[in-house]
Amino acid sequence: MKVKQKLREAVDLLYSCGRAGPEAYSRLLLECFRTVDADQARRLQSHMRLHSFAPDSTFFHNRFLQIYAKSGYVSDAQHLFERMSHRDLFSWNAMLSAYSKSGSVDDLLSLFNQMPTHDTVSYNTTIAGLVGHGCCEKAFEFLNRMQGEGFVPTEHTHVSVLNACSQLLDLKRGRQIHGWITARNLKENLFVWNSLIDMYARCGELDLARWLFDRMVTRNIVLWNSMIHGYLRNGQPKKCLELFHDMRFSGVNPDLVTVSSILGALLQIGSIAEADKVFRGIEKRDKVCWTTMIAGHAQNGKEEDALTLFTEMLLDDVRPDGFTISSVVSVSARLASLDRGKVLHGKAVILGLEGDLLVSSALIDMYSKCGDTTDARIVFKLMPTRNVVSWNALIVGYAQNGLDQEALVLYESMLKEKLTPDHITFVGVLSACSHAGLIECGQRYFHSISEQHGMKPTLDHYTCMINLLGRSGYMKEAVDTIQGMPEEPNSLIWSTLLFVSALNKDVQHGELAARHLFELDPLDASPYIVLSNMYAASGRWDGVASLRSLMKDRNIRKIAAYSSIEIDNKVHKFVSDDRTHPQRDKIYDKLNGLIKKLQEAGFAPNTKLVLHDVSEEEKFESICYHSEKLALSFGLISKPLGTIPIRIVKNIRVCGDCHLFMKFVSTITQRSIVLRDSNRFHHFDNGQCSCRDYW
Ligand code: ZN
Ligand code: ZN
Repeated sequence: MKVKQKLREAVDLLYSCGRAGPEAYSRLLLECFRTVDADQARRLQSHMRLHSFAPDSTFFHNRFLQIYAKSGYVSDAQHLFERMSHRDLFSWNAMLSAYSKSGSVDDLLSLFNQMPTHDTVSYNTTIAGLVGHGCCEKAFEFLNRMQGEGFVPTEHTHVSVLNACSQLLDLKRGRQIHGWITARNLKENLFVWNSLIDMYARCGELDLARWLFDRMVTRNIVLWNSMIHGYLRNGQPKKCLELFHDMRFSGVNPDLVTVSSILGALLQIGSIAEADKVFRGIEKRDKVCWTTMIAGHAQNGKEEDALTLFTEMLLDDVRPDGFTISSVVSVSARLASLDRGKVLHGKAVILGLEGDLLVSSALIDMYSKCGDTTDARIVFKLMPTRNVVSWNALIVGYAQNGLDQEALVLYESMLKEKLTPDHITFVGVLSACSHAGLIECGQRYFHSISEQHGMKPTLDHYTCMINLLGRSGYMKEAVDTIQGMPEEPNSLIWSTLLFVSALNKDVQHGELAARHLFELDPLDASPYIVLSNMYAASGRWDGVASLRSLMKDRNIRKIAAYSSIEIDNKVHKFVSDDRTHPQRDKIYDKLNGLIKKLQEAGFAPNTKLVLHDVSEEEKFESICYHSEKLALSFGLISKPLGTIPIRIVKNIRVCGDCHLFMKFVSTITQRSIVLRDSNRFHHFDNGQCSCRDYW
């Protein structure tokens, strides 16, 4: 810092005394070069121009070029390079290195092709640039060309191409390069060795990586980190922790990179308390540590803690990056907490991260999951650049919220922008078709996956198709689709078939689907309940009874259904018949009042859906106090006025009676209700639901 300060003062002095001699300029230039201070170099250059000091020395210009290249000042470098009357190989290589570090791949390649001659440095710089930009195949092309022209790859070349192998997870080529290195006896170079271990660790060859690691005589910290991180990435947190103990035993002090891996390892094995202890013990916590902790807590279902950690991080004056913000935005999406999601959106704007691809896509997803497609669309429109993830977020968001036409229109504009859809795009597109009952359209899109886009349809895509066919009553076609699948159908496929069988009151296919589900997961309660409801609806009480005894024998319990609602930044959870809430009396008064109005309007609760052969009265009770009804009543008493929709989240599919109830309440209270169940969104407005009664 002090050196930079002195240099700055020296250039200030130069400006105050006018023209200087060649020695002064060279001394200052040398100092700029030594400290890689591009700002002072810029000032120096303009001073020289101002005083018409124009040494026709390529040496002078090359030094400037190198400073700009190293600092990523591409346009300064370009400007200078274009005006140079004489360029030597050194100048060309310096310009290449500027493009390689911070320019575009096109500029890099076109400069390489313009060069009158190349040397090893030109090749190494270009290969490193290509790998840095993720163009790994192109880098291998250049490696071949380099060898074809008789240049011998150096240690720099090996480091770059090994990194390319790591990126591509190309073990075959990685081994080949390892062979060359051994043959050329380069094993003493720490950087090469480190890239080699990193490559093996990334490609999942941990034993080999470890074997190389153990043979190293000197192990610096970077190697330990590569190996520790390799175990972590390959889902071996225990090995990761063991190696960490070895590292401490060898007297190597961990740095923040090590600690972040250790935190990640602890959180992967669910040792949250242990991770907390390590984390609190770190003296200076950086962004990576904080983000690891936040993401780890979120993954372990500790959403509230993740959000608290984020607040602490801000108080600790650590600046979050796009990854941190997108993690917490996803947490608020999972909690369907629009209030907090909006606060985080504000934070992203303040931090200048609003345009970040990760952040914007997380925001679109969050607004969609909270049922607020208007704001999701605004975020999308404002994005300076968009990738397939951003498009997917809005397409899927539209589809989940019943805006099926909008989802399909968006997909068509995505194709017009020449973006390649991926498998998530098609999940959005096909589920939009299936909600809207667009059979032909859905089949066309389904076939386009393999025919136009060269991908294999996934189980998710098949699920959408079975849903689409089944919902429209084409049960035979749905079963044919399952039979035509190239892979074994999983439980998602069968539960979709079961669900559409229930919609069509098709007991025969329902039994087929349930049989498969009982085999795949004998302890999952839902197929028993759905089938039993189907039997009940068709009056087959013998079937109901036999399923009940089966459930009893196998000791299967229903998963506890619950609904949650957020009021003033606090999430309130309700189970069926819940009497634990402090405001329970008011809630039940409100609910009973609404039920009475509903009955007066001529609606009787649909008790056919209840799985018990209990008396009508009892059935009536249990269905009236389903958790989503309690959450809705609490929402109405907490926010009696206003135009903001009441937002409820339910962990399983909403039942038919509650669905009808929501539609009715949206009419008599003139309030919008957004209900997110395990399957989709329901926007209730004026007696109508966005799902058009298909869910
Ligand atoms: Zn219900
Ligand atoms: Zn609905």
